[in-house]
Amino acid sequence: MDKAHDDSRESQQDRSTPNDLKRLAGQWHLPNIHPPDNVSADGYIDPLPGWPTTGFSAHTGEVIAHVRVFNIFWGRDYGHPNTGITTAARDLDNFTTIVVNSSYMDHLNEYGVQRGVSLGSTWIDRQPGAKTYSEDDMGALLVQWLDAGIAPEVPGPDDYSHLYFIYPSADVNLTLGGKPGGFCGYHSYGYYNQWWPQKNNLFFGVMCYPASPNVISHELAEACTDRSLNAWYTTDGKGAEIGDVCDSCGGPPLGFGPWQVGSYWLDSKSRCLQEDDLFPPPRLNVALNPRRVPLGRPVDVTITITDARGGWPVKSSAVIHNFTPRPGGYPVDQPVPGVGSPLRTTETFYAGKENTDRLPPPPVYDVAPSVTVQAPGYPPESASFLL
Ligand SMILES: [Zn+2]
Repeated sequence: MDKAHDDSRESQQDRSTPNDLKRLAGQWHLPNIHPPDNVSADGYIDPLPGWPTTGFSAHTGEVIAHVRVFNIFWGRDYGHPNTGITTAARDLDNFTTIVVNSSYMDHLNEYGVQRGVSLGSTWIDRQPGAKTYSEDDMGALLVQWLDAGIAPEVPGPDDYSHLYFIYPSADVNLTLGGKPGGFCGYHSYGYYNQWWPQKNNLFFGVMCYPASPNVISHELAEACTDRSLNAWYTTDGKGAEIGDVCDSCGGPPLGFGPWQVGSYWLDSKSRCLQEDDLFPPPRLNVALNPRRVPLGRPVDVTITITDARGGWPVKSSAVIHNFTPRPGGYPVDQPVPGVGSPLRTTETFYAGKENTDRLPPPPVYDVAPSVTVQAPGYPPESASFLL
């Protein structure tokens, strides 16, 4: 399902009908590549071989900036009229609620996408039986459902915030671009109570059975950054969306609490999203007061050490480099006693060293003291005074 975009097609996209657009773009699905071979032993995720990592551009810039997601579980594999929604569906719903308002969305900021909200979910019954649905069939079905009032919110005019995720049961056969298989989910678009030449305002994703958080997150990232298949994708190569470069149906997954999410391309950093991006490792914050210290005069400083993520105090030890115990003295490394239990310490020293190379007078003091702090479970952190 790979298709290059050329410039003449790009320029036509705004004037095209939705069906034209779909013929132009083959990049909206989650490619089914098994096994993924883009993860190293230490878990670092590289781009999938053969996928483009250059040429990403905003094109029309039509993104879902503040997404409002609603989940629609469809058929007996996700629920039953007597027993209600299944445990698996409930878990997917919990996942959606959490991921849409998480650090997974924060890294989409560079594409103009912020955190969103979940509007909850519903279950719709379906008489068991195999039947095939194209992406247009699914869009038409969604319009019927919204007209019937299944969701708490429908897209308004010029409203580009709603995203409906549909989870069909196993006997629903999905096709994409007229072909069955080869994907585990896709996102698409259409109109709800508005028509061309207005913009598309109906955005939806469809997850093959059984749906997984990996597929949901992949389609969430791509639907938000390329809602009408005319925004963030590569102009060169395969016309990849941001998820396709780093994540296929087989992963590799990023840990996200009890779930696994799909990596996506961070164009500003020229690399795939990593687990450390989602959950940064512990880091110390070192605050120096005063930061700017007078030259050649005794100064009292307070060093405050906190956890950079939450601001809570951390028991630590510290060393002041270029500590000058007497005026114009030679700088030494001075351990700071007592940092940790009071979390603050006051030290008296002479900032700056007389630079005899730069005499004649007045003498120049040009060595700024700095502080290195250590605490169990954290990497060392440094901070410098200003002269
Ligand atoms: Zn994709």
